Amino acid sequence: MDINRFTKVSDTAWRLEPQGAMRVPAVIYADEALLADMDDKVAEQASNVAMLPGIVQASYAMPDAHWGYGFPIGGVAAFDAEQGGVVSAGGVGFDVSCGVRTLLTGLDHRAIEAVQPRLADALFAGIPAGLGSTGQIHLRDQQMTDMLRGGAAWAVERGFGQPEDLERIEERGQMAGADPEAVSQQARKRQRNEMGTLGSGNHYLEVQHITRVFDPEVAAAFGLAEGQVVVSIHCGSRGLGHQIGTEFLREMAIAAKGHGIELPDRELACAPIHSEIGQRYLGAMRAAINCALANRQILTHLAREVFAEVLPDANLRLLYDVSHNTCKTERHVVDGRDRELYVHRKGATRAFGPGHPDLPEALRGVGQPVLIGGSMGTASYILVGTNEGERLSFNSACHGAGRAMSRHQATRQWRGRALVDELAARGILIRSPSLRGVAEEAPGAYKDVSRVVQASHDAGLARLVARVEPMVCIKG
Ligand code: 5GP
Ligand code: MN
Ligand code: MN
Repeated sequence: MDINRFTKVSDTAWRLEPQGAMRVPAVIYADEALLADMDDKVAEQASNVAMLPGIVQASYAMPDAHWGYGFPIGGVAAFDAEQGGVVSAGGVGFDVSCGVRTLLTGLDHRAIEAVQPRLADALFAGIPAGLGSTGQIHLRDQQMTDMLRGGAAWAVERGFGQPEDLERIEERGQMAGADPEAVSQQARKRQRNEMGTLGSGNHYLEVQHITRVFDPEVAAAFGLAEGQVVVSIHCGSRGLGHQIGTEFLREMAIAAKGHGIELPDRELACAPIHSEIGQRYLGAMRAAINCALANRQILTHLAREVFAEVLPDANLRLLYDVSHNTCKTERHVVDGRDRELYVHRKGATRAFGPGHPDLPEALRGVGQPVLIGGSMGTASYILVGTNEGERLSFNSACHGAGRAMSRHQATRQWRGRALVDELAARGILIRSPSLRGVAEEAPGAYKDVSRVVQASHDAGLARLVARVEPMVCIKG
């Protein structure tokens, strides 16, 4: 990308002034090298988002941003319903409420080393993974409706996990305002047998050990210490979310003209928040959030069962669960005024700072854990939200390293088998139903996660707390 197009705000913030139909500026957070390496599409897409009705303050791209469907992945945009603001299915993404949860184990990494292959095999046997994978749970229609309303709380009521878990999940495990009636039969059908499954590709369950602490005080408050082991689960709302995204994108694209919306790109299909479609989408999207929360809760239960068998001393306690593909109604101060906004985060992690009322009491003093994946062969990171993040990005940060090349390009450059062997030689055990999937997810296909999180830190979006490195990765 030609960085001369931007106004340099700081070493890690770059602004495109409004031009043409842009209502607000587009701001990209990245260091100079990350920005230079970003594809032009990120600036184009962030600028297109800046043209949508009712957008507030700026259209943002996080340091891991890359080209996406309509909105960039790593895109953040907030809309005001009272100013004709819109909701966009493409601004949330297909895998509604895809997210990460991290569990503390109370184990030292040496305890894992002693049983590493057995643990890897047992997790692989216990966690359904792969394209179209199905689980042990089969939901009839009424149960599906209850799940779509109840989220992780529904799962806990059914014996998957503990009530204490709910404290540590966004929305306390249950997204309000879900409308199961707005979820189509086709979406329900796709989900009937998919609860408690990882799905494919980029989704994972990873056993990680903490190799560096940047902020001892916050790390202690999170329960993190060097040498300790954590488990991270990354997945979303499976077939149900994907079906909802597909259906509403189509419907919003057709209805846009009738709402008087001129789309700069058909992929930016959206509808006024106050319209019938807008409300129906919000209801369905929130139901899909509950589906993802329930899914990660069931997977947690399955992981606990495996650990109980292989490492009975383990005590898997939830640090936090945060989604990175959502549209959330939140209050933010803009131009000195406290306003209700519809904040779209697509491949961006919410990052509330210390004192935020939505945080559980145990975390309120320090801020929200921000859980960032790297790749199966590199580090991942845990950060904490900041208060200045509100002004900078409506409290949002990066969500991963971000892809540096397409899946297709990756399969031409790497072979799954060779990658698994190389990683095993480095003490990282990969178990996956798909070697092609492993090649698509080669660590080299991603940007340098250390650089991405450092840029997030330097920009003030979130602050570094700890680095973790993989020991076992169950890849979808
Ligand atoms: P996405 O939600 O966009 O699919 O992925 C989020 C991020 O997860 C990616 O940008 C990438 O950095 C990270 N990631 C993908 N695969 C793995 C993995 O196997 N292990 C870890 N730790 N991170 C991964
Ligand atoms: Mn996903
Ligand atoms: Mn994701």
